[in-house]
Amino acid sequence: MRKSIALFIALLISGYLPTVAQEGQPTAQGPFAQLIIRGVTLINGNGAPPQGPVDIVVENNRISRVQVVGYPGVAIDPGRRPKLKAGGRELDATGMYLMPGFVDMHGHIGGKAQGAEPDYVFRLWMAHGVTTVREPSGRGVDFTLDLKKKSARNEIVAPRIFAYTGFGQGSKAPISTPEQAREWVRENARKGADGVKFFGAPPEIMAAALDENKKLGLRSACHHAQLNVARWNVLHSARAGLTSMEHWYGLPEALFEDRTVQDYPLDYNYNNEQHRFEEAGKLWKQAAKPYTEHWNKVMDELLALDFTLDPTLNIYEASRDLHRARRAEWHEKYTLPSLWDFYQPSKISHGSYWHYWGTEQEVAWKENYELWMTFVNEYKNRGGRVTTGSDSGFIFQLYGFAYIREMELLREAGFHPLEIIKAATLNGAEALGIADQIGTVTEGKLADFVIVEENPLQNLKVLYGTGAIKLTEDNEVVRVGGVRYTIKDGIIYDAKALLREVETMVDAEKQRLDYQIRQPGIKQ
Ligand SMILES: [Zn+2]
Repeated sequence: MRKSIALFIALLISGYLPTVAQEGQPTAQGPFAQLIIRGVTLINGNGAPPQGPVDIVVENNRISRVQVVGYPGVAIDPGRRPKLKAGGRELDATGMYLMPGFVDMHGHIGGKAQGAEPDYVFRLWMAHGVTTVREPSGRGVDFTLDLKKKSARNEIVAPRIFAYTGFGQGSKAPISTPEQAREWVRENARKGADGVKFFGAPPEIMAAALDENKKLGLRSACHHAQLNVARWNVLHSARAGLTSMEHWYGLPEALFEDRTVQDYPLDYNYNNEQHRFEEAGKLWKQAAKPYTEHWNKVMDELLALDFTLDPTLNIYEASRDLHRARRAEWHEKYTLPSLWDFYQPSKISHGSYWHYWGTEQEVAWKENYELWMTFVNEYKNRGGRVTTGSDSGFIFQLYGFAYIREMELLREAGFHPLEIIKAATLNGAEALGIADQIGTVTEGKLADFVIVEENPLQNLKVLYGTGAIKLTEDNEVVRVGGVRYTIKDGIIYDAKALLREVETMVDAEKQRLDYQIRQPGIKQ
């Protein structure tokens, strides 16, 4: 057993993976000249109600046919089903639910500080049905583009990757003039990046960079960090051509009516993470109230600009319930020691702001969430595009698992579960500009799917790798669900086998370090 773990780790490190899948391999199989997925209930990404039974035919990596083959509760007439060709492969998914592959619009591919390497991160995403990821700034454009190419060739187990380079990343000198900003944006496009991730900058720099990026036909994301938001908020960005906003910073500032900066305590220091996150929790209250004239005006202008909200609700959840986030049941099995260490209270690690985080802070954040969610839900109701992004690897949020939590929080915000599936699929595809390729189960599109045994509309928790808790007729407690298969480019990945591989990686690290997960401040 030890030996096989060591071999597995060695293979991971050497970059060789049992990836492009061949028949008989446990984790991944395909692509096939023809693949027929039989008997599913289709939950499409376009807001349509579920429909089944359906057979889906894939040729190599493209959907060639989506065929309704019967009625619920009635035996299927085999004569009505698509025929398997010689050399084709059937996947019996009778009674299962199939959705388009999920798009994570805010997926950092690990990080050195977290000790989370791509093989670990990618498996956790794929195990939760994430087949496309937008990386909003990572370890540099070359690093991300290398992985993007390998993923496109299916040489590694990984979602499709869209690289949005951190603005200024790789630049030898700080960008201080509009012309330097334009030149950096052009260079980023030449390298092959898909877009730019901004964190805010002086107005003239933001205006120049966004203008140049738009001219080149690239897309953009921005986390409007507090340092520049007094002069340049979400509305300025949207007008200048930003295509999507991350998180929520910069939006309350656009909604201010009786101030121009947030009500900072006078001893505030941005480099003190508790100051930063504690005061952020009081920010929505300082903005215009929901449905007031100013609130409506800002929303309507963003809607008119076809602007995308990528709220990443989950990444702040520990702010309103630290206990929940740090005791999530998946940490023991799937969180790497280095990642667990990174999450611990610290004056240095980003997002580890638990210097003294108590009842007062959590209650403030609960109120903050209500106001934020009201905006997000109403934006969706008025026709605005809201996407699903996780931002995992910080604040006790684990890759893949946090993506499902994001769906649950959209539900809490008021989304119908079908609106959530749309946010997770078609809306992401639209925001990336690839809705002609992915985002719905439609003939001609790429074969990216999520298949699960239980109905995710009835309970989104069945999408967690750890499943949902259920009591059987016989009074036995069981787990149901967990994604069964994730299909990308026509390759079938056994989602549960991917999770087992992650577990093996985590076990090996714990053995190497003689490590055990402990809660903050508890010595033994
Ligand atoms: Zn982020």
